[in-house]
Amino acid sequence: MIARSAHAADLTSGLDKPTTVVVFSDRRMEPQLWGDILSLAQQELATDRPPAISGSAIITVIRGDQMPLGIKVESSISVYLHGDCNLALRSSIALPHHITGALGWVERDHGRILPFVHIDCSLIGDLLRSRPALLAALADPTQRFQVMSYAIARVFLHEYLHIATQSDAHARYGVTKSEFDVKDLLAGAPMTAANTEDNDRPHAAAGRAMGR
Ligand SMILES: [Zn+2]
Repeated sequence: MIARSAHAADLTSGLDKPTTVVVFSDRRMEPQLWGDILSLAQQELATDRPPAISGSAIITVIRGDQMPLGIKVESSISVYLHGDCNLALRSSIALPHHITGALGWVERDHGRILPFVHIDCSLIGDLLRSRPALLAALADPTQRFQVMSYAIARVFLHEYLHIATQSDAHARYGVTKSEFDVKDLLAGAPMTAANTEDNDRPHAAAGRAMGR
């Protein structure tokens, strides 16, 4: 586990330093899912960080439980995945009309946003499952892991931006909006783009991705 104070102190001046994003999961995750999450989070950071805050920082995303002992990092962000990220399919699926709660959140201390991101995989799963057009994709393990990984990477980028900008601000569109629906979660996911159009059923489900 990483010493919180040391890394929090690193951050304010650390955005142009090489940053290591260390991902931890509450539960065992499939190796393929791990691979997808690490690569897609890295890809989101590379492609969707607004240029104004990207700086020159090199960001590396690694798996916390396989971190080499004694590794030294200049600046780090810890990401904690909670709940069921494997997105186990349930035999009977009750589709909730409203899904509420925070998809992701950050920690703060005396007004500072700390470099700790929490992501609720179970809630992301509920949101994805609420979309009937996605159920076929979710039944296939390869697609399921990719869909989950895209969604996790998207929530991560949202929270990362709170940390990087030290701001609670939300925009009306894009990755910094305050509420995500399935389309927001899968923005840029090529294999599911056709399945996320709003033509299958009206959906009221909107999770929250918020910095608290
Ligand atoms: Zn937010």
